[in-house]
Amino acid sequence: MTTAPTGAGTAGTSTALLDVRGLRKVYQGRGRSVEAVRDLTFAVEAGELVCIVGPSGAGKTTLLRCVAGLLGCTSGEVVLEGERVTGPPRGMAVVFQEYGRSLFPWMTVRQNVERPLKEKRVPKAERRRLVDEALEAVGLAKVHDAHPWQLSGGMQQRVAIARAVAYEPHILLMDEPFAAVDAQTRADLEDLVRSLWKRLGVTVLFVTHDIDESVYLGQRVIVLSNSPTVVLEEVPIDLPDERDQLTTRAEPRFAELRTRIYKLVQRAKDGHRPAG
Ligand code: ADP
Repeated sequence: MTTAPTGAGTAGTSTALLDVRGLRKVYQGRGRSVEAVRDLTFAVEAGELVCIVGPSGAGKTTLLRCVAGLLGCTSGEVVLEGERVTGPPRGMAVVFQEYGRSLFPWMTVRQNVERPLKEKRVPKAERRRLVDEALEAVGLAKVHDAHPWQLSGGMQQRVAIARAVAYEPHILLMDEPFAAVDAQTRADLEDLVRSLWKRLGVTVLFVTHDIDESVYLGQRVIVLSNSPTVVLEEVPIDLPDERDQLTTRAEPRFAELRTRIYKLVQRAKDGHRPAG
């Protein structure tokens, strides 16, 4: 496991694994500024699977980039494991939507998964074990030597997930990771995320605009307002821990939760903001 994040400064004590406090982001352009995120505060405890949902343009990407240390915030702070994030932290891995661009086409599947481990200076035998286990865990044990372009979109995204889990992150950020795959593949990949989360105990922050996906996956769903973004509501997902695509999605409670979040997102689109 990784320990001290590299991109980190000092911060106050915190019990949560990830603390987002009063995050504000104003983009400065030529002669004008855009307040994308106004005030986001939430925490993610170790071992949680939390989804963030909001309409298009709600500031999800901006938030995720700030959390990942890829973008500086205007005010507020992101604290991971008690350290303020000021650059990409070592204890974090990110899976992006665009798997096609996140994998190196000239490298084999194995080389792609192994690369961050080399950068982390993991010894060779340990690298081999981690890569084998990760590819096995995502159901790709037989395609080590293929190149990404020889695989389907869903398989490429499995490689990206394997690369992230092989890195043994303390927190896994996922940015609309399944938006570009077909419905059946998407369902399989959602189940893969749930099973990896349970098996590996990794904390997951999953960003999506898909309400059903957020309810199916999450233990908690954070609903964002439209931009300039604030948290509209946090909805606990009190569905049984054992979930499967057919029974869970057919449960009356699933329908209630998706309706509740759907209404919140609709109100967000109409410009509703919390009082105060
Ligand atoms: P989402 O990921 O939820 O679709 P974004 O974070 O991409 O939302 O965008 C939130 C708001 O910030 C939008 O109004 C968008 O136009 C604005 N925005 C995003 N990136 C930039 C940028 N680089 N410069 C100026 N405005 C931006």
